[in-house]
Amino acid sequence: MGSGGVGKSCLTVQFVSGTFLETYDPTIEDFYRKEIELDNSPCVIEILDTAGTEQFASMRDLYIKNGQGFVLVYSITNAQSFVDIQPLREKIFQLKGPRNSALVLVGNKCDMITERVVTQRDAAYLAAEWVCPFYESSAKTRVNVTNVFLDVVKVINQM
Ligand code: GDP
Ligand code: MG
Repeated sequence: MGSGGVGKSCLTVQFVSGTFLETYDPTIEDFYRKEIELDNSPCVIEILDTAGTEQFASMRDLYIKNGQGFVLVYSITNAQSFVDIQPLREKIFQLKGPRNSALVLVGNKCDMITERVVTQRDAAYLAAEWVCPFYESSAKTRVNVTNVFLDVVKVINQM
């Protein structure tokens, strides 16, 4: 989950199929499935790549209720996107309860260093407060893409 344009679809596609799509229809909301191995056990990850419908509160609430883990994505090049994840996290806590809110915080587009506006320090501070894993990722160069999705499964398994 996260604001439009932060790279949610690109991260998902990079994780699932190992490719970077320069352009991806922002209105496409799709469901993906990938088999992985985690700690020597097979595991199927089902990913809902949310799109603009998050503005429809009832749809968003339904996704949250049905979801087990949540990747909250902002872009390191967009300060507002970092602000936007905070109410999403509150909503998840409200609907799932703090004990069932498996979160990973992700600052995407870390390859765009010259356009950085959100510091790693500020985000790490927030993640420490939330007690959740934090990564800076790049869907373009594949930095930390696998770690993001594996970690959300690890957090789910710890609950
Ligand atoms: P979404 O609306 O959150 O699903 O965002 P998209 O995945 O559609 O990405 C929005 C735009 O950002 C696209 O033009 C992507 O090519 C670009 N983009 C996404 N992730 C990255 C990244 O890690 N690095 C760079 N440089 N561009 C990215
Ligand atoms: Mg998208």
